[in-house]
Amino acid sequence: MQSFQFYSPNYLEDALKYIADRKQTCRTLAGGTDLIPMLKKEEIRPDYLLNINEVGELKGVEDLDNQVRIGATTTFTEMIESETLNRFFPLLVNAAASVGGPQIRNRGTIGGNVITNGPCADVLPGIVALDGQLELQSKQDGRRLVSVADVLVTAYETSIRSDELLTGILIQKPVQGTKSGFEKLGRRNAMAKARLNLSIALRQDPNGTISAVSIVPGAVMPVAVRMNDVESMLLGRKPTPVLIQAAADKLVEVVVNTAGIRWSSEYKVPVLKNIFKRVMWRVLAEDPQ
Ligand SMILES: Cc1cc2nc3c(=O)[nH]c(=O)nc-3n(C[C@H](O)[C@H](O)[C@H](O)COP(=O)(O)OP(=O)(O)OC[C@H]3O[C@@H](n4cnc5c(N)ncnc54)[C@H](O)[C@@H]3O)c2cc1C
Repeated sequence: MQSFQFYSPNYLEDALKYIADRKQTCRTLAGGTDLIPMLKKEEIRPDYLLNINEVGELKGVEDLDNQVRIGATTTFTEMIESETLNRFFPLLVNAAASVGGPQIRNRGTIGGNVITNGPCADVLPGIVALDGQLELQSKQDGRRLVSVADVLVTAYETSIRSDELLTGILIQKPVQGTKSGFEKLGRRNAMAKARLNLSIALRQDPNGTISAVSIVPGAVMPVAVRMNDVESMLLGRKPTPVLIQAAADKLVEVVVNTAGIRWSSEYKVPVLKNIFKRVMWRVLAEDPQ
């Protein structure tokens, strides 16, 4: 059994002061669904544990002028129930709904999903697809905003400093006509981490030409990243079966070239192609928002 000092402040200022004074010796506790198993297995041995669940500024979804702010300790269940997210970002709602079982969705937070940066994360790829920004705060530097894509170093590693807290995720409201889709393939329905997931957001001109597209596969790359080469193949073109097939081929080519051939590739490559084509056609057939 490990011993550590536990601190549970009500105010962000106190939380920031606590980690500023302790840095690497302190770990932040949100829902604990990733952290508690690590503590139990003694993979980490912090001297201090900062519980951020009582800090009001970190909770909930706010509809701002052009943006939506999702507080870092907003749980997956709260995301699913948020009217604002259902209206503007059904992609994130669907991703949150796919997470684990009810217990994990009630405890696990969006902030924990980002900071863990696991290759199997379900919500993080959607944030990358929507070009989300992270609101980071520290006692030393106050508030800074960074693109989520810029902090994902490699699997389970971000460039966020040990004296910083992730306080929120900011996402520009979508341009009218934006459509999106999410699909996850898990080992089994309940409590399954993703074997593969896919987040897509796109827009079409009135004549059907694809004018904006964002594609992020999950659990097949070391970190969630937009598939720029696939996106540029689709941009400015009208979708046809030939084009979507070529884009699916390109997608798996990029994934295999980046992640390499693994034991699971024989299974994942055709599955990824099929999921991509299915989600693309479903999104293309949808009425715009
Ligand atoms: C049985 C099971 C099933 C799961 N299924 C899924 C699944 O289907 N999909 C999926 O994506 N994930 C799944 N997970 C993983 C986990 O639930 C998610 O990654 C979740 O988002 C973690 O959030 P949390 O609030 O529990 O984070 P915690 O465990 O509290 O923290 C995770 C990490 O982030 C740090 N941290 C948390 N919040 C902050 C913050 N605001 N600022 C700075 N650092 C912070 C912590 O110090 C820790 O390093 C599963 C986990 C379990 C145990």
